[in-house]
Amino acid sequence: MTTVHLAARSQTLPVDVPTGVLVGGDWSPASGGGTFEVHDPATGDVLIEVADGTPDDGLAALAAADDALPAWRATAPRERAEVLRTVFDRVIARTDEFAAVITAEGGKPLAEAAAEVAYGAEYVRWYSEQAVRVGGVVRTAPSGANHQMVLRRGVGPALLITPWNFPLAMATRKIAPALAAGCTVVVKPAGLTPLTTSLFAEVVREVLAERGLPTGVVNVVPTSSSSALVEPLLADPRLRKLSFTGSTEVGRVLLRGAAEGVLRTSMELGGNAPFLVFDDADVAAAVEGAVAAKMRNAGQTCVAANRFLVHEAVAEEFSAGLAAAFEKLVVGPGSRPGTTVGPLIEARAVDRVEEVVAQAVDGGARVAVGGGRPDRTALPGHFYAPTVLTGVDPAARAVREEIFGPVAPVVTFASEDEGLALANSTEFGLVAYAYTRDVGRVMRVAEGIESGMLGVNRGMVSDASAPFGGVKQSGLGREGGEAGIEEYLESVYVAL
Ligand code: NAD
Repeated sequence: MTTVHLAARSQTLPVDVPTGVLVGGDWSPASGGGTFEVHDPATGDVLIEVADGTPDDGLAALAAADDALPAWRATAPRERAEVLRTVFDRVIARTDEFAAVITAEGGKPLAEAAAEVAYGAEYVRWYSEQAVRVGGVVRTAPSGANHQMVLRRGVGPALLITPWNFPLAMATRKIAPALAAGCTVVVKPAGLTPLTTSLFAEVVREVLAERGLPTGVVNVVPTSSSSALVEPLLADPRLRKLSFTGSTEVGRVLLRGAAEGVLRTSMELGGNAPFLVFDDADVAAAVEGAVAAKMRNAGQTCVAANRFLVHEAVAEEFSAGLAAAFEKLVVGPGSRPGTTVGPLIEARAVDRVEEVVAQAVDGGARVAVGGGRPDRTALPGHFYAPTVLTGVDPAARAVREEIFGPVAPVVTFASEDEGLALANSTEFGLVAYAYTRDVGRVMRVAEGIESGMLGVNRGMVSDASAPFGGVKQSGLGREGGEAGIEEYLESVYVAL
């Protein structure tokens, strides 16, 4: 553990963050003795050094997860539920600490970080409630000749790979259902933000140890060399499940790796969310929803509205309203009171956003607001100004690629069919948003949209009790809701 002093809501907080590798209930340095740096995106400064997990550490973590499996599977569902419920209570009680760590390593404003703590912890509470409701089936076979019983059990040791943009919520969304189902886990957090996930794992470790349960249920291996660590794990027959959240590009690589061991896989991948504003929309509400859908974590969310598809009759009003709303946002370090938009995660993320904007402008787009980096003397970290681009060519990179930054390209359409066709003209299909007051249109959009989720007249859809996930190249499987635990369960059919 290393004590770091971090800016929190009302004061500076000392937080003991684990900086090692967690294997079988013990935190230790990496087997090779190496470390890597974690940076503060608001300044670019080094925050702390963390153990650089090696392939040997990964395999030791898998061995620990495999050893803990029989006892954890045999632990009563009620007891597993109590573990999760206690973890939920402790995380909520330590909201300020968790939020301070999220902001320090990820950059988002403290209020957003606290919202992530509430959202992320809710998965733990939800799956504490689902752990005792897994069920099974007993029935008479249709022939009447015998009975059929279907038992459900955890699939086994699971490798959970998480991204940097929600270092608590993306981890709890996997760890909680896995533990509820009776699986043990090896977590590989993103190298950019390993601290929050490790702090959460420490809370779980403490609760397991206090209750005399096997502490190898949750293992964590931060690393700066993800593929070197993950490849031998995917090839190891003890691993039975892979759950990944991250880019589609890396998802494809991991799916190939998982094919060898025929692993159960869940893939929460990239998005390119369309935000449709129809001509009958409440435009002021659409602007408000657009800010929420675009600007959380400075646009660095998989559900960020990426393309604003607006009916030509309301395009001017919407674009002007959005530009005015973006102008009021306060860009700054997440720990500074009043900040509403924090930095991007790293320098190359800002470079990429700059390129995407320049390419759109070269193709004829107009910058309605923003369009560059804020003053670098005042804000030396990885900042980009909230930007609205109008008249964007639908073929521009800003429309085709996941921007992952505070940039809103506006494209116009002339009919419902055209709007829907534009919305669907992408290989991604995670979420879509639609603003309209016509109930018939809501149903047509819901039936025609090629995405796993749809927000109607609202800019936020995520909820621990709902099935989150995508279609097309946005992923496989669902997290949250009743569906989330299914990803970690297998069936044993018994004929008797
Ligand atoms: P990323 O794909 O670069 O990394 C995700 C994780 O995979 C990290 O832990 C990283 O270290 C690891 N990784 C990278 N290369 C690897 C390899 N070759 N082998 C094994 N592990 C590897 O994504 P990111 O930049 O951390 O996150 C942003 C992406 O995640 C965006 O595309 C975003 O849309 C997506 N995302 C999706 C969801 C969802 O639920 N669908 C949620 C959040 C983020």
